[in-house]
Amino acid sequence: MSIIDSHVHLSNIESFRQTAENLSGVDYSAAGLKREFDQNGVILGVGMGLTEQSKGAFPDASSENPMGLDLESAVPDFLMECVGINPAQLVEGNAIPELDRIEHRLKAENVAGIKLYAGYYHHYVYDKVYGPIYELAKQYKLPVVIHTGDTYSMNGLLKYSHPLTVDELALQQRDVTFMLCHLGDPWVMDAAEVVAKNPNVYADLSGLVVGDRDKFDRFMNEQLFMDHFRRALIYADCYDKMLFGTDWPLAPIELYIEFVRRLVPERFHDAVFYQNALQVFPRVKKRLGVL
Ligand SMILES: [Zn+2]
Repeated sequence: MSIIDSHVHLSNIESFRQTAENLSGVDYSAAGLKREFDQNGVILGVGMGLTEQSKGAFPDASSENPMGLDLESAVPDFLMECVGINPAQLVEGNAIPELDRIEHRLKAENVAGIKLYAGYYHHYVYDKVYGPIYELAKQYKLPVVIHTGDTYSMNGLLKYSHPLTVDELALQQRDVTFMLCHLGDPWVMDAAEVVAKNPNVYADLSGLVVGDRDKFDRFMNEQLFMDHFRRALIYADCYDKMLFGTDWPLAPIELYIEFVRRLVPERFHDAVFYQNALQVFPRVKKRLGVL
């Protein structure tokens, strides 16, 4: 089975380095990611652009737009990119050059979408600061991927990352495709409802477990933990809108595949691990030469 990993990172972010070193045990480098992809049948990944200007600053209000995959000198050919948006820089005086740079980057063939870090940055997703971003998404027919749920930083604010906030946005912007990250965890039932109700909203299943084999074994064998996600997936009943993603380097690829295989009924594996990504990301479809 070919797999597309719809949510990975390859940015120079201190908390990702620390997680790789202390929790997941992965080799946080392009070569390390490629090795794990090859060993597990992952043919392409989508990297979420993000930068910090000083060690540990993420979420960094001073980062220039767009935020990219800056761990190494270039984006490797086994990844496509969702360009990260820093709304703090989309302010008067700055907005025009920032938006020009974002638009220029969107024209690159290896850009698959746009990533918003709701919660990390303190704006609701329907705030007017993001208006021009949705216009660009429409113009270039690119999906907007939105962080939802818990923030991997104590400086986030959860009211901005709650999945219900995307309901209003999805109605306002019916012509834009959205993907909720992490199924809004821990508000997975709310995310399931937003996906089920809105034809233009999908969700990825990344980042639900962070850590190494011990951690995965412990949680995968905890019925209540698995049922927390199963209930939402069963309630939504739209496996054609759920996408596999890992949030690597937060977890090893192999373990994450095993985790999602256990959550999703087998007859939907091809959809979740591969086909649905082609629907959300038209440029991934194009890159893979799928008609
Ligand atoms: Zn992520």
